[in-house]
Amino acid sequence: MAEQSIRGIGVSEGIRIAKAFVLREQSPRTPVRETVTAEEMEAELARLRQAKERSETELNELAEQAKRTLGEKQAGILVGQARMLSDPAFYPPIEKRVQEELHSAEHAVQTMTEHFAGRFEKLDNEYMRERAADIRDLGKRLLMHLQGEEQRSLASLREEVIVVADDLAPSDTVQLDKRYVQALVTRMGGKTSHTSILSRSLGIAAVVGAGDAVDAIVDGELLIVDGSEGLCIRQPQPETIEAYQIRQRRQQSELDELERFRSRPAETKDGVRVEMAANIGTVQEAAAAAELKAEGVGLYRTEFLYMNSGQMPDEETQFAAYRAVAEQMNGQPVVIRTLDIGGDKELPYLALPKEANPFLGYRAIRIGLDRQELLRTQLRAILRASHYGDVKIMFPMISSLEEWRQAKAICNEARSELIQEGKPVSDSVELGIMVEIPSAALLAGSFAKEVDFFSIGTNDLVQYTLAVDRMNEKVAYLYDYFHPAVLQLIKRVIDAAHREGKWAGMCGGMAGDPLAAPLLVGLGLDEWSMDAGSIVKVKEALSRLDSHDCRALTDRLLQLGTTAEVRRELLHYMDNLRDA
Ligand code: PEP
Ligand code: MG
Repeated sequence: MAEQSIRGIGVSEGIRIAKAFVLREQSPRTPVRETVTAEEMEAELARLRQAKERSETELNELAEQAKRTLGEKQAGILVGQARMLSDPAFYPPIEKRVQEELHSAEHAVQTMTEHFAGRFEKLDNEYMRERAADIRDLGKRLLMHLQGEEQRSLASLREEVIVVADDLAPSDTVQLDKRYVQALVTRMGGKTSHTSILSRSLGIAAVVGAGDAVDAIVDGELLIVDGSEGLCIRQPQPETIEAYQIRQRRQQSELDELERFRSRPAETKDGVRVEMAANIGTVQEAAAAAELKAEGVGLYRTEFLYMNSGQMPDEETQFAAYRAVAEQMNGQPVVIRTLDIGGDKELPYLALPKEANPFLGYRAIRIGLDRQELLRTQLRAILRASHYGDVKIMFPMISSLEEWRQAKAICNEARSELIQEGKPVSDSVELGIMVEIPSAALLAGSFAKEVDFFSIGTNDLVQYTLAVDRMNEKVAYLYDYFHPAVLQLIKRVIDAAHREGKWAGMCGGMAGDPLAAPLLVGLGLDEWSMDAGSIVKVKEALSRLDSHDCRALTDRLLQLGTTAEVRRELLHYMDNLRDA
C-alpha cells in the first residue's frame, strides 16, 4: 500500500512515530451456544466465577485510578459496577440460570443483564434509568472475560504507541499514561473537545476529527503523527520516516532547551515578575498543571464536570471535585469559573432550546441567573471547597453591572446559609468577572470599583468585538487578538483594575502566545493563565524582555491602525531580540 496522509485537526503539537494501538468499541462475539449439558455444568459455573472475579479486580483497579485522577464521581460509577457483582439480586440469578436451566455462562449473562437493564429502564426515576447503561456495560465486561478476550484497555500498555480511537471515554482517559501513549488520533472531536484539552494538558500529541479514514487503520501498523499540522501518515516510506525523525529531533532539542525555564520564576530580564497559571477542566489536568510548575489555576472550566455526567452534578459531587483541585494546587490560587454552558457547549439534560444565535443567547451567567438553584448549588460547592485552598470565584459572560451584582448577592446568600449550617468557608474568597464582552470592557472603570479581579477572556472578547464567530472556519482569517480595537479594550481593562488597586489576569488564548508577551508586559498584565503546556514557552519569551522597552513598544503598538501592522511590529521586535 502506498503512503497515505490522513488530515484532521491538530490540537496538541509534537511529532511522534510509533505503532498504532487501535482502541475501538468492541462488541462481544455472540455466544457459540446457548446451553450446556448436565456434565458440563460445573465447569461452566467455574468459568462464570472466574469471569466475575476478573471483572471485579479490574473494576476496583480502574476505580482506584479514577479516584486519583478524575475524582470521586467518575470513580463512583466503577465502584458501583464492582459492587453490583456482589449484589445478591444480580449475580446469583445468573448462576441459577446455569445451574438450573443449563444455560451457557455467556447466554445467562446476556439474558440476565438485558433483563435487569430493561427493568431499570422502566423506572420513573431518571437516575435509576441511567443505571441501565451501567448494567449493560458490566455485562459486556463479564462476556469479554468469558470469551477470554482481554478488555482492550490503555492500562495494559507496556510499549510506546499511538492510540487510535473514535474518541476517548472517561474510563479511557483515566488510564492515559504518557510514558506509553505517544499520540492520539481520533475520528471525532474538535479543538475544544475534552480529549483535545486533556491531551494538551498532558503533553500528548493529538490529531482529532480525522473522520472515517481512521477506521482503516489496523492495530500494530506504523504511523507518523504531526500534532501541529493535524496530520497522520499511514505506511510511511523510509524517506518520510527519516525526514520526520530529523524534525522530531530538532523539536525535541528545542523543547529540552525550553525545559530549563520550567523551574524558574516567570519574570522579565529586568526582574518584573508575573503569575503564571494554568487553564484546567478536570482534577486530572490540575495534577498535570502542578507537575508543569503552574503557579495556580487561572481558569477552572467547570462545564466538563457537568458535561461528563448524565445528570446535574449535585453539591457533594461538585464539592469533591473543587476540593480535589484546591488541594492538588497546595495553597496556590485556584480561580473557579461558574458554569459556562450554552453557545457551542451543550448539556443534554438541561434541554436548552435550539437558538438561531446561540453565542448571543441563553448561556453562561444568563442561565445561572435564570435558574438560580443551579448557580446556588455550584456556589455552595465552591465556597465549601474554599476551606481547602486559595479559591476564587469568577462569573462568565458578564455584560452589565446588574448581572454582576445579582451573582454576587446569590454568592453572599450561599455563604450565609453555609455559615448557618456550621460548614467551614474561607472568609477571603475573592470574587471576579471574566471580561469577554465589549460592554464589560467599556464599563471596566465601574466594575473595578466592585470586583476583586478581572480575567480577560480573549477567545470570546475577540468574537464579540469583531463580530467574528470563533467556530467558523470561513471567517477565521478575521479572528485575531492583535486587532487594534481588541488591544484598546484590553488596555482599558488592565488600567481600570490598577486604578482601583485590583489585579487583572488573562485566561484567553492570547496569554499563551509568546508573541503577545511583550505587549502584555507593556500593558502590565498581572496574571497569565494558559494551557499548562505553553507555560515554558511564555516564560522563555519573558526572560528575553525588558519591561521598559515593552512599555515603549506597547505605546507604539497602540497607535497602529491595523492587525497586520501590530503583528509585523511584534514579530520584528522578537526577531531582533533573538538576533541580539
Ligand atoms: C475566553 O472566552 O477567552 C475563555 C477563556 O473562555 P472559553 O474559551 O471557555 O469561552
Ligand atoms: Mg469565554
